[in-house]
Amino acid sequence: MSDLPLKEKDTWFSIREKIKEKISPQQFTTWFENLSLINLNRYEISIKVPNLFCKEWIEKNYMDVIVSAIFETINSKINISFVLDENKPEVVNSVPESIVPKTINNLSYINKNYTFDNFLVGPCNRLTHAAALAVAESPGTSYNPLFVHAQVGLGKTHLLQAIYLQQQARPHKTLFLPCESFINHYISTIRTGDWNGFRDMYRNIDFLLIDDVQFLAKSQSSREEFFHTFNSLYNRQKQIVLSSDCPPEEIPTIEERLISRFRWGLITRIDPPSFETSIAIIQKKAALANLEISNDVASFIAENASSNVREIEGTLVNIAKYSSINKDVVTLDLVKKVIEGFSERKKLLGIEDILKTVTRHFNIQISQILSKRKFQSITLPRQVAMYLARKFTNLSLQEIGGYLGGRDHTTVIHATEKIKKLNKTDRNISMMLRKVEKELTK
Ligand code: ADP
Ligand code: MG
Repeated sequence: MSDLPLKEKDTWFSIREKIKEKISPQQFTTWFENLSLINLNRYEISIKVPNLFCKEWIEKNYMDVIVSAIFETINSKINISFVLDENKPEVVNSVPESIVPKTINNLSYINKNYTFDNFLVGPCNRLTHAAALAVAESPGTSYNPLFVHAQVGLGKTHLLQAIYLQQQARPHKTLFLPCESFINHYISTIRTGDWNGFRDMYRNIDFLLIDDVQFLAKSQSSREEFFHTFNSLYNRQKQIVLSSDCPPEEIPTIEERLISRFRWGLITRIDPPSFETSIAIIQKKAALANLEISNDVASFIAENASSNVREIEGTLVNIAKYSSINKDVVTLDLVKKVIEGFSERKKLLGIEDILKTVTRHFNIQISQILSKRKFQSITLPRQVAMYLARKFTNLSLQEIGGYLGGRDHTTVIHATEKIKKLNKTDRNISMMLRKVEKELTK
């Protein structure tokens, strides 16, 4: 990497920062910390990975993240290749050391700020928060297992760790770990044969918290082992708390017997925060980062950042960086500059891409979108296309109206406002938008 020009190094640094915003710190440390850039040009990027296991795991689980981080940084889609580090001789099935928990007191995954005190409660997470508190206060007696699901960045890991941290004052043994670590520990035990050690670790505890169990979908044999771990703890009334990015029945390839066990306790969902909750979270996070922001600024961030709390935090971090470099107070102007500066991708999406993606998603024809028809089935996609054109192109209101069947600019403003509002209030719409945007920026 030292031979690479500075510009490429900078780009690589920005790509890494984007990746960081999209995944949890523990996932970043485990899989991305040790990657290095070999080559980057207009057509391709090659990245050095420490071993085959890492390469395969990243290819299976994190390609989406990498592709969108690259796209957001350089505004184009390029080939991605991974190259094994030749200086490190390959060991079959070698697992990165950091992800095999060595002892039960392994704290490397724990963020001490993820406490109940630092978790803001709103309508989107009230039930889950209450259940988490109940379980933290009297493990094994209230809800067992507690199964928390939510899209990424809405506080699952935070809540699980809050429960974990609260147990530290108690004598019982508590283990928190990402599901990927459980799987990797299992795979490395196949190699070492130390099944006693493995089972001791997971079965002789009082409280088990496993984060992101959707990863169980990847490995049938680890699911089998997880099933036995679950039974063994459950039968002895030990508390189990699990999180996932989807409800149990939507975890691909998962067996009915595991789904039914997850249903024995309580399954609860965290929804994206409402506008008011987002503002409260922004103010809390800003205070934690020693950043002073006015209500106007908080509202602006809540309006413009997505409803993913991790992304909101990313925006705050950027604002903090920018304001300390320029020694500015955090004014609305500064925040606008920062947020706009980070949506560079605006320029490169064409209106054609937007129309193609939207019509494909809604299964209608481009000619229908451009027509004068006012059926809801066509009006909604048309408004979505206008909203996306505002967000991802530099076209003026007039130009967007022109492309979309010769409509005037007030129609475009009206459509954009309407979709923005629905994005905050209607879960189906926000999910649809996220999907379409993901497809667009792929
Ligand atoms: P998930 O595990 O669901 O992907 P995380 O728990 O990692 O999400 O949350 C992402 C970030 O958002 C964390 O820094 C977390 O502290 C913050 N966060 C999420 N929800 C809340 C909340 N209700 N109050 C305060 N911070 C939150
Ligand atoms: Mg998480």
